[in-house]
Amino acid sequence: MPEGPSVRKFHHLTSPFVGQQVVKTGGSSKKLNPASFQSLWFQDTQVSPSSSGGHASHRLVLHFSSGRFLAFYNCQMSWSSSPVVQPTSDILSEKFHRGQALEALGQEQPVCYTLLDQRCFSGLGNIIKNEALYRAGIHPLSLGSLLSPRQLEVLVDHVVEFSTDWLQGKFQGRQNHTQIYQKEQCPAGHQVRKEAFGPPGGFQRLTWWCPQCQPRLPPDEPEQAQLS
Ligand SMILES: [Zn+2]
Repeated sequence: MPEGPSVRKFHHLTSPFVGQQVVKTGGSSKKLNPASFQSLWFQDTQVSPSSSGGHASHRLVLHFSSGRFLAFYNCQMSWSSSPVVQPTSDILSEKFHRGQALEALGQEQPVCYTLLDQRCFSGLGNIIKNEALYRAGIHPLSLGSLLSPRQLEVLVDHVVEFSTDWLQGKFQGRQNHTQIYQKEQCPAGHQVRKEAFGPPGGFQRLTWWCPQCQPRLPPDEPEQAQLS
């Protein structure tokens, strides 16, 4: 699943074509006939990172009346109804609703589950989850209901800050710098732990955390209880 900054960059690159007409098409795709785009108007471009998908190697080229063209490579292409992502839950939208995000995180469930719930945090993927939790000093399995309002605020701050910084880095050709994701040691030199966590019956995602920098809440619960 692409994370927010990746698809947001795509959105930024395609936006200038909105309002233009397709005058010529090219490429090949098994699912879509490129010629079917001929003479259509490019009306909108939307970020919908929640759409999961397999790998595809289609190619589609759209030439516009302006003389410029868009070429899509290795894209998953399909016809779909309107995306359902609300801008209020899009972590990179100026309409992102902080209060709504805080309320979702405060639920009585591990915060690492809530962060990956695309209905609450559209665009938030596994890298952002791991990095924001580490930076906020919060154990991934901490129940949101046991965290203080201040801790939840700090977590949302790190989600937005890391995502925004990652997006800016993409435009500047800079690698995003991770501190915990796929690391063996945290920046303080502690041994990092790695487990797959996810809701019962749901998708289990690899999670990296530092037991020392990210103490568990509640501290006495055995960790096995949360493993699938
Ligand atoms: Zn540490």
